[in-house]
Order: sequence, then C-alpha cells, then structure tokens
Amino acid sequence: MSAARPAAPGMTRNCPHCKSTVLASASICPACQHHLRFNSPTAAAAPTGYSALQVEGTVRHRQLDEPCEFCVVLSIANERGEQITRQVVGVGVLQPSESRKFSVSVNLMPARAAQLKVPTG
Ligand SMILES: [Zn+2]
Repeated sequence: MSAARPAAPGMTRNCPHCKSTVLASASICPACQHHLRFNSPTAAAAPTGYSALQVEGTVRHRQLDEPCEFCVVLSIANERGEQITRQVVGVGVLQPSESRKFSVSVNLMPARAAQLKVPTG
C-alpha cells in the first residue's frame, strides 16, 4: 500500500540527484531540474508558484593586465532585517575581458499548494 502524508509548508528534503535542499512539495528540483516525484497523483497538477523576484546582471572584469577572483554571497533576512541565512554560493576567477552572468530568483508558492500529499519513503 502506498502511504502518503501531507507536507507541512516549509518542509524540506534532499534532492536524490544533486543533494540540494529543496521543498518537500517540489515536483522538480530547482537546482538540477530533475523530476522528484513520479508516482504522486497530484504531481501533474502541482502548481509551480510564481516568480516574486528576478534579478539578473552581468559582471565584466575591466582590468586588462591581471585576473580577479569573485565571491557570490546570498543572504536572506526577515522583515526586521535579521539575517536568517548567509551562504557563499559560488566563487571563481575572471580572466581579463571575461564576464559572468548572475541571476537570482525567488519563487513563491501558496501554502495550500505546498500541503500537497507527498509519498513516504
Ligand atoms: Zn537536484
């Protein structure tokens, strides 16, 4: 018998493919974009939420004589400005005249949609 339990809003699990922490309600991993649920009858109808924030920009190294390192830091704060998390999500080096494009997106999903039943085990 296939048991199912409701996923509480904000409940997380690890993607079996890339090990990223994802919402338990997600049907597709936002990091590696692999499918996470194949047998859930509600998976096909699961809403993907909506994009509440989308920021994109390109950084170009302007010095022509030496490479430079970069560090990408992502932080999340609550409504009082208190830091909830701060993580280095990427580091690297730019050679002269190289560029990198960075994008950050925040998707919101109504909590009722996040309470879809997820398979156990
Ligand atoms: Zn993944």
